Amino acid sequence: MTGAATMELTRRALLQGAAATVVALAPGVTLLLGPAPSEARAPGTPVSAKTRWGLLVDVSRYAEVADTVVEACRTENGWTGHGRPLTDPQWVRNVTLNDPRTGAVRTLPVMCQHCEHPPCVDVCPTGASFRRADGVVLVDKHICIGCRYCMMACPFGVRFFVHENVTGQKPHAPRGKGTVESCTLCVHRLDAGRRPACVEAAERKSPGAMIFGDLNDPNSEIARAVGRHVALRLRADLGLDQGVFYKGLNG
Ligand code: SF4
Ligand code: SF4
Repeated sequence: MTGAATMELTRRALLQGAAATVVALAPGVTLLLGPAPSEARAPGTPVSAKTRWGLLVDVSRYAEVADTVVEACRTENGWTGHGRPLTDPQWVRNVTLNDPRTGAVRTLPVMCQHCEHPPCVDVCPTGASFRRADGVVLVDKHICIGCRYCMMACPFGVRFFVHENVTGQKPHAPRGKGTVESCTLCVHRLDAGRRPACVEAAERKSPGAMIFGDLNDPNSEIARAVGRHVALRLRADLGLDQGVFYKGLNG
């Protein structure tokens, strides 16, 4: 497959949802990559509003996986810094909160919150910033004109402008100088029936520090955990109905 064809496939996959990743072990014997259906889209099924992908971070345990999570995201998606912290991409960044009343220190990851009502989509003049039916918010690099309105509209500062020429990019995570990017919730993995790279990396080190799944499925681990614990959204007062929740933020 040529580079252009790969790019077109990736774009189509982002817009519509790609086919499942199926590994043939032997004739007639296949291995479907991915965990239980409530934690991943059943391979081959189209993107649907029946699903709402979400993340739950256990802040009380996150510090032990913080560096691992950033490294996993960087490796998976091919973004890197250039020694310019103010403008370097950080699809996920670790933020430390100090509570002056209690002295408590908490570390949490801040990435695109995959809002149900995303202002970054509302302000985009070309439609490049868009929300999929399953709640994943993305940027179509082919029609992003780099105006950066979405960066200004996002209240969480999680979108980044690519200033430098991009080398060594991953075919599944296309990037481009002059365009805007942010966490894709590892949509290429979701479309292959897998979970985000950060979630898998965190689980290897501290199971349960990050839970991923379908918020609309009452039987999913994430829906049960969100219902069972006090799970907060950042700046819930804005009414953006994000897909990312934090447990232990207030305790
Ligand atoms: S967190 Fe920011 S970039 Fe992500 S969907 Fe919400 S407004 Fe858009
Ligand atoms: S979901 Fe994927 S893109 Fe988003 S922070 Fe995690 S590893 Fe990075």
